[in-house]
Amino acid sequence: MPAVTADTLTLPRLPRLPETETDWRPVTRIVTGQRHLEGEGFQVRRPFPGVDLELADPFVLLDHMGAVEYGPGEAKGTPWHPHRGFETVTYILDGAFRHQDTTGGGGLISDGATQWMTAGAGIQHIEQPPPELVATGGLFHGVQLWVNLPRARKWTPPRYQDIEARDVKLLATDDGASLVRIIAGSLAGHEGPGITYTPITYLHATVAPGARLTLPWPRDFNALVYVLSGRGVAGAEERPLGEGQLAVFGEGAAIRVRAADTQPSAAQAGWEVLVLGGLPIREPIARYGPFVMNTRAEIIQAFEDFQAGRMGTIPAERVPHQTAADDPVG
Ligand code: MN
Repeated sequence: MPAVTADTLTLPRLPRLPETETDWRPVTRIVTGQRHLEGEGFQVRRPFPGVDLELADPFVLLDHMGAVEYGPGEAKGTPWHPHRGFETVTYILDGAFRHQDTTGGGGLISDGATQWMTAGAGIQHIEQPPPELVATGGLFHGVQLWVNLPRARKWTPPRYQDIEARDVKLLATDDGASLVRIIAGSLAGHEGPGITYTPITYLHATVAPGARLTLPWPRDFNALVYVLSGRGVAGAEERPLGEGQLAVFGEGAAIRVRAADTQPSAAQAGWEVLVLGGLPIREPIARYGPFVMNTRAEIIQAFEDFQAGRMGTIPAERVPHQTAADDPVG
């Protein structure tokens, strides 16, 4: 797992949180991600939305893509498709995705880079594996997170941000054993590069086998830990948490998890977890396919606007489509 690695001994360290005086958040729920096919047929694990979307607020969806070892000709992406009403954050750990959108944004995201797309009032985009990955096959591992926009921001103009792997803020845990990458938001006074309309914190941590990860966390944010690979336990109550599972935390001032002493071969560097939380929006959600609005009437309007060509124009110089015929709604 390349993502970004570093010598943790040289990095700024997170504060040590006292074991007994800290108000640790309890684990309220463990959710196992369900398998779905996305785009042109690549498999994702999806821990939310599940039964209760309120647990994830302000997040709407998390798709864990891979890790998968593609054979020649097997890598897949999405056709051109629209979005409205939220932001997508795509973080690639291994392999690459080529992206282009109707604002003129686009580029290659690979090995620890993040692409942030504010769909806002409406956009179309395409996500494709680069030709080399299609030709030769290879390892692919990434995550796409959807962050909701509040009613007042749903009509904001679309925006694109490329966050290179080197821009990610790196920290070490208080014991120096584990690496924490801040992709967006802040943690213990350190800022990550992503700029968000909805306040969130989004981290990727590699927790050394047997080591603890303890993080101060804003009381008004929700708190979720999702496992990319490896195994460990969540909360002071040490609930088992393995690959593809999400721990939902209750109220408190800090999060704690611990990596198992022995890890499977896929997690040789350590237990790979995403830690995410944000300020809940607490508005009604109407979601259908690629649109996330507040009411059903706004969803119907989104389909009408898309069909009438009011969600951007696909550029003449397009990313070549590698894998299948264009399908307008992915
Ligand atoms: Mn999309």
